[in-house]
Amino acid sequence: MLGKNEIVVVGAGVVGLTTAIRVQETGRHRVTVIAETFPTDPKTIKYTSHWAGAHLASGIGADATENRIGTETFRAIWEMSAPGSETEGCFLRVRQTQFYAEEQPEPHPLHIMPGFEYLPQSSLPKGFKSGIGFTTVDIDTPKYLNYLLARFLARGGSTIRGTVQHISQIIEGGPHVFSNPMGKSTGDTSPVDAVIVVVGGTQEPDDWHPVPRERTKLDTLTRAISCYPELVPAKSNVDSHQVSVDDILDLVIEDGCGLRPARKGGVRIEVELFEDAQRNRRVPVVHNYGHEGSGFEWSWGSAAMVLDLLNDALSIVPDSRN
Ligand SMILES: Cc1cc2nc3c(=O)[nH]c(=O)nc-3n(C[C@H](O)[C@H](O)[C@H](O)COP(=O)(O)OP(=O)(O)OC[C@H]3O[C@@H](n4cnc5c(N)ncnc54)[C@H](O)[C@@H]3O)c2cc1C
Repeated sequence: MLGKNEIVVVGAGVVGLTTAIRVQETGRHRVTVIAETFPTDPKTIKYTSHWAGAHLASGIGADATENRIGTETFRAIWEMSAPGSETEGCFLRVRQTQFYAEEQPEPHPLHIMPGFEYLPQSSLPKGFKSGIGFTTVDIDTPKYLNYLLARFLARGGSTIRGTVQHISQIIEGGPHVFSNPMGKSTGDTSPVDAVIVVVGGTQEPDDWHPVPRERTKLDTLTRAISCYPELVPAKSNVDSHQVSVDDILDLVIEDGCGLRPARKGGVRIEVELFEDAQRNRRVPVVHNYGHEGSGFEWSWGSAAMVLDLLNDALSIVPDSRN
């Protein structure tokens, strides 16, 4: 049975690990992560975080809550990506430009980004009415996920590999009803020391196909080299019409395909009280899932919201062990 200072997090993707760290670092709780898949495992369609680009920017938008979550996350990751910090190697700071077919609002939702500017009309490509520029961060996701796991473990966190079929299994049995520890990784997913160019991707609602489609890959590459022939280094000086998709196929390291965890109604961050089987106590369960295409850019902000909800819930629920 779970005590009040014992917290179980289900899931070891970017959302689960960040939440586990945020709760753990209060110093008030023992935290265990239960998951089917960990960052050290080979890539699988059952674990989205491995497949993300990942890029920060679109998580800051018009919605006030999303804005707060996105801004808090950006600040945390910007700090981690600072030159000279111990985590710098997980990130790449990049300059981003965005062109729009419409005029943009002032202030723009992204005005908080470092080096934000409205682009002069004279610099816009034909057909565009406005443009912005700012500096942001790309994440080397395998490296960053392993960093999160290492940070959690180094501070005394526990991991258990297991498949949770119903939350009541944890409420009644605690984390240790699941088959024991994380176990050995069977694949080598250690990050390589090279800069990788992520080309893509696509977003199709309700598409569960678990492997990349060849036609989507060819279409993506064709469109990418037409905008940016420099993707084929040997042809970087030639006109885009002289570059074909065949020039780039040999350079492709890996085709990736992940299932963004989207849900109708958007991300779910809320607390629910579950009764145990004997109905003699209530256990708070804080939901934090459905981050669709923004799990990295909402990770720290949503983990902070979870912590607030957890603290409020624990303050009103008696500990059956006391
Ligand atoms: C191509 C692509 C590009 C993307 N680009 C970006 C980007 O630029 N920026 C961005 O912020 N996001 C991006 N995303 C989205 C981002 O990857 C997801 O939002 C994020 O990975 C979701 O993280 P998660 O922890 O919720 O899920 P996951 O990474 O899928 O982790 C889920 C965890 O829960 C565990 N689990 C699930 N069910 C059970 C169970 N029953 N019992 C035990 N364990 C269980 C799994 O084993 C796993 O550990 C992209 C996604 C894709 C596919």
